[in-house]
Amino acid sequence: MHYDIEADWQLLNTCNYRCDYCFFPGEVLGEKTVRYGAPDEWADAFSATGLTWLLHLTGGEPSAYPGFVDLCAALTRRHFISLNSNLTQTSLADFARRIDPARVSVINAGLHPDERARRRGLEVFNRNLGLLHDAGFSIFVSVVATPQVLAAADEVARLLAVPGLVPVPKLLRGTYRGRHYPDAYEAGEREVFRAMSRKARSAYGDWRAQRSEPPTIDPFDDDSFLSGTPTFRGKACTAGSRFVRIEPQGDVFRCGSDTALQGNILARTFVPHVGPSPCNSGYCFYFCRKYTDVKYTGPAVSIPGPTLASLVPPHFMKRVSTALQRVLRR
Ligand code: SF4
Ligand code: SF4
Repeated sequence: MHYDIEADWQLLNTCNYRCDYCFFPGEVLGEKTVRYGAPDEWADAFSATGLTWLLHLTGGEPSAYPGFVDLCAALTRRHFISLNSNLTQTSLADFARRIDPARVSVINAGLHPDERARRRGLEVFNRNLGLLHDAGFSIFVSVVATPQVLAAADEVARLLAVPGLVPVPKLLRGTYRGRHYPDAYEAGEREVFRAMSRKARSAYGDWRAQRSEPPTIDPFDDDSFLSGTPTFRGKACTAGSRFVRIEPQGDVFRCGSDTALQGNILARTFVPHVGPSPCNSGYCFYFCRKYTDVKYTGPAVSIPGPTLASLVPPHFMKRVSTALQRVLRR
């Protein structure tokens, strides 16, 4: 899978779930979804950058976006996608039928056990999980490691009905039920977390080894951050050139913590930075590690620009050519 630039594209704010650890408050998750562009408009606008994109679709719940599968079909004609999903939507059956698994880097299926139980959503989750897995999509299951999940780790693992798939624990970050994580994890919870991480690394060992790079959202080593998340400020990072964050209306930013607008995709004003530059933000979990690591950043993107011939007016080129021929004839 070769691509020039990866994007964390927050396609919409809306979600049908209300997880109490979600970064978005309920009123944002309940917003009416706005479609800022038709599928072909988005696909053409990404192609007009001259770059091949890996678009990580997230939200909210991306599969609830109106015309979600049409959008994925249009994008994957030339680009690649990956997906965060709670696997609740009927659109995923159509996705499994119409989208080529070779154009989908990975699907991160979020388990969210509390909401799943509250909304009787386990059956549909396992149905969609099996469907996508059997259709050949690269997929893993993650679970936000709340104290309740860690206290019932074995029962949580038994919720999954697709053989070989186990939940990968994701680090709880920020304030949850009045306590600040990951600092607030108790010693026993840390032990369970580490055990879940080890089990996940073993269960997905072959799958990970076969991949050319880690999944867009890569929680497999979250146990390394139980004692705190590092700061990357000042480190050379290719966010801005090899990675960007995109908001629902198409506005582009260097990464999660950056607020300097880098153009808009639909308005065709996006200009990537050239090469790495020092991190001027705090921490953009999952992306910092990848885009400060030369193994995955590689050489800077070369931006397709106008050739010398296209900068020079044709009549001038003709005159230069005639003069050159005269000189050569002498
Ligand atoms: S499924 Fe994801 S986006 Fe939806 S409420 Fe839960 S954490 Fe938030
Ligand atoms: S916050 Fe992370 S992704 Fe953003 S510039 Fe800094 S190191 Fe790069």
